[in-house]
Amino acid sequence: MDVQQKPRFIVNPSSKAVSADQRAVMLEDPGFGRLFTDHMVTIRYSEGQGWHSHSVGPREPFQLDPACAVLHYAQEVFEGMKAYRLADGTVAMFRPEENARRFAESAQRMAMPVLPEDIFLEAVEELVKIDAAWIPGGEGSLYLRPFMFASETFLGVRPSAEYIFCVIASPAGAYFKGGKKAVTLWVSEHYTRAARGGTGAAKCGGNYAASLVAQAEATAHGCDQVVFLDAAEHQWVEELGGMNVFFVMEDGSLVTPPLGGTILPGITRDSIIKLARAKGHDVREERYSFAQWRADAMSGKLREAFACGTAAVVTAIGTVKSVEGDFTVGNGDGGLVTEMLRAELTGIQRGTVADPATWVRKL
Ligand SMILES: *Cc1c(COP(=O)(O)O)cnc(C)c1O
Repeated sequence: MDVQQKPRFIVNPSSKAVSADQRAVMLEDPGFGRLFTDHMVTIRYSEGQGWHSHSVGPREPFQLDPACAVLHYAQEVFEGMKAYRLADGTVAMFRPEENARRFAESAQRMAMPVLPEDIFLEAVEELVKIDAAWIPGGEGSLYLRPFMFASETFLGVRPSAEYIFCVIASPAGAYFKGGKKAVTLWVSEHYTRAARGGTGAAKCGGNYAASLVAQAEATAHGCDQVVFLDAAEHQWVEELGGMNVFFVMEDGSLVTPPLGGTILPGITRDSIIKLARAKGHDVREERYSFAQWRADAMSGKLREAFACGTAAVVTAIGTVKSVEGDFTVGNGDGGLVTEMLRAELTGIQRGTVADPATWVRKL
């Protein structure tokens, strides 16, 4: 038998960990992405040596040279996933192997080394274990952010010879504040998110940097999120800045834009497709134009629309605004199919609905 030694993480618990009392106060209203746990995982990569220095230690700033490659050419990829506390008290993650696989694919697209998927999973689990006390109760979760960046001190334009992989964790409450039922979207007239042959299918920071001006435009028009159309014809709906999108028709069928390089392959998207089909809904991955969206919303052929992703899970789309005017989907407040899918998915994640496909990985 080939007994391969797993890379050993050196664990160095923080001596400055937040006290239990202080943590309890912080977890009363964690918000999203503003509180962080006591620890971080890091693994280094050097050309020639490969992955090394696997460590679990106190969360602390990096020391970066001003010529650090990522600061200039944005060679960076990341993931977003959650750890939850189930009703029986155990800690679980939702389809984390899919995050590991997508992280590897994003890295390849950005000419970065691939972290073996079992080490990605081990890294995430090490952090969840040492910071498990930070998982909020109730509807909250511990948002996990694995990421990797080019760390070589060099200004030449080529893939970096050194990288840092890191995992940090942030306790999270509701993603959209105010418990609002439906979001308002802005359709960007000028900006696109991804073109064929580009990086749209990779989860890289650069995609977000490029989307921020469109998101700011959405905010200026009183909208919550921006929706991007395709770059080539500027008529096909692609996705939001950080969420995939679904349409629910009057016959109960669902439509979602097809993957194909310009859309991020969401794990929530994939789960929704499988869940909806299991519930007897026809789901089509096919192009849907903005003009059709408007016409179907006006005629009533389109009953519901929703956005989905790890952070917000499933969120109803209410009103859609653009330079050509506004329209509202259904009654502007979501609908039964959206609500059913949201309840199914969160139920599976929380262990209150039967897991259809070993999606939940207990620690
Ligand atoms: C992460 C992300 C999503 C959603 O993916 P999930 O795996 O469902 O969280 C959708 N679109 C973009 C652009 C993303 O970065």
